[in-house]
Amino acid sequence: MKQTTCRGCGRSGLAVVLDLGEQPLANAILKESDLALPEPRFPLVMAYCPECWLVQITENVPPEVLFREYTYFSSVSDAFVEHSRVIAERLIAQRGLGPDGLVIELASNDGYLLQHYARAGVPVLGIDPARNIAEVATARGVPTLAEFFTRDLAEELATTGRTADVVHANNVIAHIPDLNGFVAGIARILKPDGVAVIETPYLRRLVEQLEFDTIYHEHLFYHSLTGLSGVFERNGLTVVDVEMIPVHGGSLRVFAMRTGAGQAGAAVRSLLAEESAIGLCSAAYYAAFAGRVAALGVELKTTLADLKSQGHTIAAYGAAAKGAVLLNAFGIGTDTIAFVADRSPHKQGFLMPGVHIPIVDPDQLVARHPEECLLLAWNFADEILAQQAQYRNSGGKFILPGPKLTLV
Ligand code: ZN
Repeated sequence: MKQTTCRGCGRSGLAVVLDLGEQPLANAILKESDLALPEPRFPLVMAYCPECWLVQITENVPPEVLFREYTYFSSVSDAFVEHSRVIAERLIAQRGLGPDGLVIELASNDGYLLQHYARAGVPVLGIDPARNIAEVATARGVPTLAEFFTRDLAEELATTGRTADVVHANNVIAHIPDLNGFVAGIARILKPDGVAVIETPYLRRLVEQLEFDTIYHEHLFYHSLTGLSGVFERNGLTVVDVEMIPVHGGSLRVFAMRTGAGQAGAAVRSLLAEESAIGLCSAAYYAAFAGRVAALGVELKTTLADLKSQGHTIAAYGAAAKGAVLLNAFGIGTDTIAFVADRSPHKQGFLMPGVHIPIVDPDQLVARHPEECLLLAWNFADEILAQQAQYRNSGGKFILPGPKLTLV
């Protein structure tokens, strides 16, 4: 199950960036009764390829284990639906899309993005392996194939005339083990002048903002423009444009066309030069990141131990995957954290993976009033701090772990 060669260029000699040890699956919350059973753990090691600078984890957890209970619906997040409406309208106008066009989305989820094209009268096709989610999408007017997108499926679509003016792939290209097949498949289903629009969390933001808790088994890749460009070139696509978007702590939005149909624009050349200038293609860049993660761990554990020694009760907020990664990576468990508050009723009553801290309703922050609360869901910091005004007004403090430890 361990990956010894680069998933992009195929060369051996992946170099370790960060070894987070044997970790449970970050989304696998447990019931009390599950504690009698062994909890699966897998090595969690981030590495880079010194040849093509593709950053990846070295473990391949079988997908049937990983995506066993995948229940995330994109439309749950209003901000994400709105973000999708804006890009759809922009591409409809830019490319003059109408009833003769076709827009395909890979990992189309419940149709959160394609619905905006469908409403404007542009034919759409969603592709998503989760059958229950594909049914929801189809019912709302977004025809969806419940299949994995592979080279073979791309071939079948192309030979039956289903080639696209626009192909979207949001937050999926970091998850696909056969990265080359996926990208070659995109090249195959694009019309000669079609464009692929691919959004993925940006490695540089992860490093700069110390978002190491977004490293977990589902995320096989941590993409830079340098790494992605290499993969695209090998598989018949050229990156023509790139922009930064404020999704998932900072993401890349990459526009690619079939090689020969377009050329790298100024934004692409300038971002590649920037990545080179900050040393993103050097061992030192990754060593410095690993050092900062380790230092944060020491500082956080020392701070929590000090507070405990003063007799404080400490809670945490946010039972999502990133919280599980932070707690497990730093070994922060039930002896330090009394409970984890989370708004999702689907998580309350369960235990955090690995460290087994109970997950409860956020009203417990006011009811039990721990002196401090470690904010694990930093991506929703503003929203959570506002919601917890009562807790904070009565003296409760939030501990923000990264990129610099702060108490607010
Ligand atoms: Zn490589």
